[in-house]
Amino acid sequence: MFNIFRKYIIFFALLILPVVLFGVLGNPDNTELALLMALSYFLCFLLLIRGTWRFLFQPPDLYSWRFRGNKPPTLTFYSISQYETNSSVELRMHWLKDKQEYSSSERRIKKWQKEIDNMSKRYNTKYALQKAQRTQSTLDSVRKTTTERIKYGERAPKIICPHCQEKGKVWRKNDATIFEEGREKGIVGATIGRKTVNQKKVTKLYCKNCETSWTV
Ligand SMILES: [Zn+2]
Repeated sequence: MFNIFRKYIIFFALLILPVVLFGVLGNPDNTELALLMALSYFLCFLLLIRGTWRFLFQPPDLYSWRFRGNKPPTLTFYSISQYETNSSVELRMHWLKDKQEYSSSERRIKKWQKEIDNMSKRYNTKYALQKAQRTQSTLDSVRKTTTERIKYGERAPKIICPHCQEKGKVWRKNDATIFEEGREKGIVGATIGRKTVNQKKVTKLYCKNCETSWTV
């Protein structure tokens, strides 16, 4: 319970402490007191920035009031995928593992590991992580399909590749734009060799098997 309130206690202590000290010592000309007050409010400001940052970009941790165990967290902007809802444990585990993987700071890796260990005492973190990773891979494949569709169009299962004779590996994209370079027509243009670039709509075909693309 103390863990949940710790950050609020620290924040309000920093906020109120200088006022209390002023009340007790009551000397507005005290430079040290003014410095202490400035420092205290500066720390408050940093905490506020950090809190806002975490609120916006990180899933709530085990000690947050927004963390709800196996239920999705209250109020969070962090999500793995827009197609699926994940529990608080899943989101936090996903975030922690991701951080651990890309961090080079021994100290922070240890800190995150401690949180994982704490969470493991209360929740099935292994299962949560598996589920989060499954969401991630679903999302990745959705993204991959979308990118492929933009790049290669739809799969044409009946077309046989003229280059490698493989069937069902050809993707077709209608209305693909290509740029064609040509010589300008007419005596003047042809004489000085002026070039023109024409935009042309074609059907583009691409074979995934032999990685050849051609147009028709
Ligand atoms: Zn082919």
